[in-house]
Amino acid sequence: TQLYGIDKWGAGYFSIDEHGDVVVTPYGADHGPKISLHEIAREVEERGMAMPVLLRIENILGSQIKLLHETFRKVIRENNYEGEYKGVFPIKVNQQEEVVEAITQFGKDYNHGLEAGSKSELIAAISMMKSRKACLICNGYKDEEFIDLGLYAIKMGYQVFFVIEVPGEVELIIERAKYHKVAPNLGLRIKLSTQAEGLWTESGGDASVFGLGMTHIVDVIDRLKEENMLDCLQLLHYHIGSQIPNIRDIRAGAMEACRIYEELVNEGAKMGYLDLGGGLAVDYDGSNTNFHSSRNYSIEEYCSDIVESIITVLSRHDIPHPTIITESGRAIVAYYSVLLFNILDVSSFMPPPIPEQLPQSTNDLLENLMIAYDMVSPKNIQECLNDALFYRTQARQLFKHGQITIRERALAENLAQHTLIKISKLSRYMEHIPKEIKEINRLVYDIYYGNFSLFQSLPDVWAIDQILPVMPIHRLTEPPSRSAIISDITCDCDGKIDSFPDYSHEKNSIMLHDLKDDEEYYIGVFLVGAYQETLGDLHNLFGDTNVVSIHVNENGSYKFLRELEGDSVADVLSYVEYDVKSLKKRLKHIAEDAIHKGYITAKERKSILNEFDEGLRGYTYYEKE
Ligand code: PLP
Repeated sequence: TQLYGIDKWGAGYFSIDEHGDVVVTPYGADHGPKISLHEIAREVEERGMAMPVLLRIENILGSQIKLLHETFRKVIRENNYEGEYKGVFPIKVNQQEEVVEAITQFGKDYNHGLEAGSKSELIAAISMMKSRKACLICNGYKDEEFIDLGLYAIKMGYQVFFVIEVPGEVELIIERAKYHKVAPNLGLRIKLSTQAEGLWTESGGDASVFGLGMTHIVDVIDRLKEENMLDCLQLLHYHIGSQIPNIRDIRAGAMEACRIYEELVNEGAKMGYLDLGGGLAVDYDGSNTNFHSSRNYSIEEYCSDIVESIITVLSRHDIPHPTIITESGRAIVAYYSVLLFNILDVSSFMPPPIPEQLPQSTNDLLENLMIAYDMVSPKNIQECLNDALFYRTQARQLFKHGQITIRERALAENLAQHTLIKISKLSRYMEHIPKEIKEINRLVYDIYYGNFSLFQSLPDVWAIDQILPVMPIHRLTEPPSRSAIISDITCDCDGKIDSFPDYSHEKNSIMLHDLKDDEEYYIGVFLVGAYQETLGDLHNLFGDTNVVSIHVNENGSYKFLRELEGDSVADVLSYVEYDVKSLKKRLKHIAEDAIHKGYITAKERKSILNEFDEGLRGYTYYEKE
């Protein structure tokens, strides 16, 4: 278990059982029933759903919502904070109907609301709201229609807040509110000078494209005063970024925002709500540090820092404590989904063994490579590396100029590769590994080919080098023997996972098991519930994967809630503007032409066209016969 760090990033939801299977404990913190993911993967395949499959474990959403609310409630109680906590889920983090439905259902008792940033998200959000006490926060650029939709929701009794993001929005909101004779609840999105660390934090700081600066805030106040609408201004919102790894930034942001909140109260605004946006990070690599894929705080520290910051600033001048809103997306949904895929093949880095005797050769290149290989020892690693690389380059040059044969070149590459492997193995014991040797370490891993597309299912791993927990979901009582990277099945050399959390092994590879002839080898990529589904794309025309969601009952039984088939080949072709009917017509025509030219018979034409038809209906991923 040490190898994969599951006890560090699993957050009590994932662990390994005595049979060596990864198990999920959806009620959290290691209590309640444990379900084997391997068992689920096998059952999914028995039901006819092929890998890759995105597995959603519904109860985890409920557990995360509960955890966030209960922790805020505890901290509020302990600090005698006068306000309450109300969360909203930003739909953009995972817009799938099933997800939003489950969140509003689980969140009903806590008045957990939604955040929408576009008209489509707003319409979806209104249709999903389950409590009139929950908030519906409207961020993003709003046109007349967006504002009208929100005003109708207010008319229907919902607590909708229009967050003013750009100065121009104020006039339109005032005009539409007058037209509909509805008092709008207004918020201001402010630009903080606090800039957080992390990969997703350009939403904060002076250069942020979002939010109002000080001058604009004053302008909005004056304009609302003129209209006698200052009592509509009730909420202050900021968002300094997603996945904020350092708690110091959370505290600094809250303190700065509270000063502005205080000024808004002094200006006569009604206020009452402080919306701190998203940012509550997920400890993807389990390191509990301020590394970008981690966080150096617990949920309890997050809640405490927010509550304490508000008390510190606002109690100085007896400003009533506001209702705290956070727009946590990632922290609510990340744990909920696991991508499961099977390994199709392995390509070993190990070259064929070195021959006992070198063949006769016209030059001493092979001899020199052999000497470099024999000489490798901890004392002369660098020298042997230089020699191996030098003679390998020489072999390539000589081959280009026709001075050695393909067999001599192959043997030279083979000898050089054996030398690099020897060097790489020895370098693991070095205190400081030189950059050049680190580079060769990358060449000595096996490549495990996984049945998935990185671009469709794990886009952040490709786009911003996010680290996600990856591990086999079974055979964990057997020690794995292969040091590997995982490649997807797109034809893109970027389609690979070769950065891993640094547990007992190295950061550039993962230890995996030998494949067995009679058994699938399943890998899970964990904590993929946030952003990945929505941001994924059709690179190489690999479409949406199959999705299966389960609900685990308290007695340990589980039921399949949904089985959604992923995209078929015809689906993805239609997304890129192919008209499938005309495509089929063209194929028929091509086959007809092939008969006329005598390439195929009429009977062959029939079976070829049937195969194409089946291909169009099929899954875009690798299918077993
Ligand atoms: N609120 C706003 C305005 C955002 O832009 C985002 C995402 O960046 C979020 C909330 C969600 O952030 P997180 O997923 O870090 O909770």
